[in-house]
Amino acid sequence: MSAAPLPNRVNIRKAVTRCAKYSGCLGSEQLPQFAALLDPARPLVDISVEFGENEEGRQFASVEMDARVVLECQRCLQPVHCELKAASRLGLVPGDEQARQLPAGLEPLIAVDEVDLWELAGEELALALPVVAYHPQGECEPPKSDRDDRSDKEERDFTEPASENPFSVLSALLDSGDMKEK
Ligand SMILES: [Zn+2]
Repeated sequence: MSAAPLPNRVNIRKAVTRCAKYSGCLGSEQLPQFAALLDPARPLVDISVEFGENEEGRQFASVEMDARVVLECQRCLQPVHCELKAASRLGLVPGDEQARQLPAGLEPLIAVDEVDLWELAGEELALALPVVAYHPQGECEPPKSDRDDRSDKEERDFTEPASENPFSVLSALLDSGDMKEK
């Protein structure tokens, strides 16, 4: 895929009239908020946006996004590579009122005169990000079996009894509460 620069701002009327299609790649320069997440092997977000008007005369933008990010696996806490793909059709509306009138299947994209394609790419990427990431089942990094750093373990063993105290106090309180209710 060519790494053509994607224009930043696009005039809606012109783009819809010409059924214009824009596609290209954005990097951390255009999407600095995702710089730390993008896969260093290919730190680019592929995005294509096609403008048009449907039978009902509604202006829309069809967006396809493809990006590779590196997240932290919530099972083994090691990096997990994720490919994120999104495809959506957005209804171009100038305000909230028109957004509420959009039929199901068209998510509103509120924009007057111009659409910011970089911002749109960032929004699509943010929506595609999983809340939690995991390696596929059974593919997590195995825990280090013969660890020499006993101090780490000893420290944990030492702190565990202390951290249990608040809970035993709490359960004692709850127990006494139960007694009173009964
Ligand atoms: Zn994992």
